[in-house]
Amino acid sequence: MIAPNKAELLGWLHESRPARLQALYEWADSVRRRNVGDSVHLRGLIEASSHCVRQCMYCGLRQGNGDLPRYRMTREEILDCARQAVQLGYGTVVIQSGEDDALTADWIAEIVRWIKRETSLAVTLSLGERREEELRLWRAAGADRYLLRFETSDENLFRAIHPHRFADGPDRLTLLRQLKALGYQAGGGVMVGIPGQSFSSLADDILMFRALDLDMIGIGPYIAHASTPLGSGALRPPIDPAEQVPSNEEMVYKMIALTRIVCPDANIPSTTALATINKVDGRKQGLKVGANVVMPNLTPVKYRSMYQIYPAKACIDESASDCNQCLRGQIRSLGRFAGTGPGGRGAVEIAIEAPVSALPSRSAQFVQLQA
Ligand code: SAM
Ligand code: SF4
Repeated sequence: MIAPNKAELLGWLHESRPARLQALYEWADSVRRRNVGDSVHLRGLIEASSHCVRQCMYCGLRQGNGDLPRYRMTREEILDCARQAVQLGYGTVVIQSGEDDALTADWIAEIVRWIKRETSLAVTLSLGERREEELRLWRAAGADRYLLRFETSDENLFRAIHPHRFADGPDRLTLLRQLKALGYQAGGGVMVGIPGQSFSSLADDILMFRALDLDMIGIGPYIAHASTPLGSGALRPPIDPAEQVPSNEEMVYKMIALTRIVCPDANIPSTTALATINKVDGRKQGLKVGANVVMPNLTPVKYRSMYQIYPAKACIDESASDCNQCLRGQIRSLGRFAGTGPGGRGAVEIAIEAPVSALPSRSAQFVQLQA
């Protein structure tokens, strides 16, 4: 099957007829099943710090948001979350934070080393735009993956909503290429429905995912935060209203489905932002239209409300074990199963019909095939 070209992508992004959309979602779901199988990988999310030196115009963690109380987890708290990830049967932890210089390169490297030495977890970092030496150090310490969404491939829009920290600093696309060269599995992604975002740029985003050969691709709705310039309306990037992408569920489902079709073996999460705009079954719908990853939250509940990227974030009061049970239930209700290994790109797990207690070891619970 030949992947859609830009004109075809644009046609699908504008599509609204239910029968056509159903056909698109079924196509994406069959590509997902053939290429990454029926397992859904659980990545335990640790939101390590809400301090951020950046001024991204869309994000509630931006430094200029004086309304947000800030926190920074201790090393022990982060290691406790990793221990909990093991107990809950996750294969990966994702350590995410604002761009916080107090999370020094050595401090992060030490945490990564501990997790890699004491557990079989894969470690994903998502700490913002850090220097190449830092990325190199963390990779040498054992970090497997790095997430850094490029948010939009429209350069003018990106510049307007994401002020540079250093005039000569590398942009996110350059950093993603550096990450791949350092041997990380690299994750990019975009928000859907950013004010000023056109359908044409959204089609370009999908082509950019493929050009970068991304291993992970995160796609979620843009959700307005009133304490940010973009969310309050103080910043209004110019656009013809007919070209403005809406930030609704359907647009996100179309983006996930097309991304799956164009990047068949990438790991694609059904995101918390999607679960926020449809708290009933947004996450399940994402899994039905091409996604194969979910990110249960491991952050201590006392910190959750302080990691307010956008308002009314889903799963803010649930304990880690509630989150785990809820997501596993959703996965089972779709006739899918929770992955047990690290679930890197190219690994396909096959369910074995046996109760976990009857299996001799964790590695016997799945057969991992290299695609
Ligand atoms: N600081 C790191 C970075 O920027 O990559 C990681 C944390 S940042 C909060 C993670 C992602 O949150 C961003 O890449 C962005 O896509 C998403 N995000 C930020 N503000 C958002 C908003 N208002 N609506 C939806 N997603 C948002
Ligand atoms: Fe900071 Fe990331 Fe939010 Fe930008 S998106 S303000 S870098 S946490």
